[in-house]
Amino acid sequence: MVWHAGRVELDQHWLSYVHDAFALANAVGPAFAHGKPHLSSPGEAAAVAVPRLPVLTDADARTLDDTGRELWQILRDVAADNAAAAADPVGGGAAAAERLNVLMGRVDARPRMVRNGAAGHWHLHFRSAAGGEGMRWSANLAVAAGMLLGSGDFVRVKGCQAARCERVFLDGTRNRSQQFCSTRCQDRVKASAHRERRRAETGAAS
Ligand SMILES: [Zn+2]
Repeated sequence: MVWHAGRVELDQHWLSYVHDAFALANAVGPAFAHGKPHLSSPGEAAAVAVPRLPVLTDADARTLDDTGRELWQILRDVAADNAAAAADPVGGGAAAAERLNVLMGRVDARPRMVRNGAAGHWHLHFRSAAGGEGMRWSANLAVAAGMLLGSGDFVRVKGCQAARCERVFLDGTRNRSQQFCSTRCQDRVKASAHRERRRAETGAAS
């Protein structure tokens, strides 16, 4: 995978998969989320994170759990490189790209034309010819992550800056100023800064 700064606008179809890839990654990857230990129940996390998934077998759910953990590691790597190279975002990403190549190979992501129903539009999907829904969804989620990371928008991949939160997010703000995964984490940080200030003020007054 070659990293370049050319902006690629993903269409709604692939943006939906990008959204699902982040949701699945955050459902199974972090040890801490929103300030608390994050426990995911194996096999259920995928269905909760991605409501549009079909009904999964246990094996499919396990496959998606594994994919989610890999995606989380990949997105964390990208976020760390982005944070380290804020002035010159081009050039990082080698570890993430290599991991993603391995993942796409493992889930057998190969291009196939598919259509919804006999008269539906043809879509380009990336899915194994064999394998169940877990493999098929894993392939599409991995390719969506690849499309994002291969576009100029890879610089929008970030990790939450709040304490005890390892969630990743896509910063959609115009000037890429988002620091936290959610208003929940933003409020936690504000409240803790407020407590610090009060402690300092009471300390100084006594
Ligand atoms: Zn957070």
